[in-house]
Amino acid sequence: MTTASKVPHTSREKLVVSILAEAGRALSAPEILELAASRRPMNKVTVYRILDRLVEAGIAGRHSAGDRTMRYCLAPCAGEHGHGHFYCTGCGLMECLDLDAMPIDRAALETALSRRVDHLELRLDGLCEACRKR
Ligand SMILES: [Zn+2]
Ligand SMILES: [Zn+2]
Repeated sequence: MTTASKVPHTSREKLVVSILAEAGRALSAPEILELAASRRPMNKVTVYRILDRLVEAGIAGRHSAGDRTMRYCLAPCAGEHGHGHFYCTGCGLMECLDLDAMPIDRAALETALSRRVDHLELRLDGLCEACRKR
């Protein structure tokens, strides 16, 4: 994360990075477009191009959600060894989870797999608190 090539170059890239940082959850490209609109309107193609670049540079992560729309968040925005998401099937919001703080037994996984596990990615689908109360 310290190499110059990983630093966002353009003001648009910086804006997308700050939108992702402020959100603290995974956003879809349309959500990013909407949040950018009041600050610096961009077209869809531009946003997708910027997101591709950020993913390539390892700044952002691209994650599939239950609705098949990709979501983007800063990587790693949560745990160092694991990044997870909770996708709400009710409202479509995708939260980032710190898997390092979850009760996941990495050693047991490694034993079961007979492999070394360096990084964990997990998506949980369900209903968020607000949707559960509806
Ligand atoms: Zn919800
Ligand atoms: Zn995330």
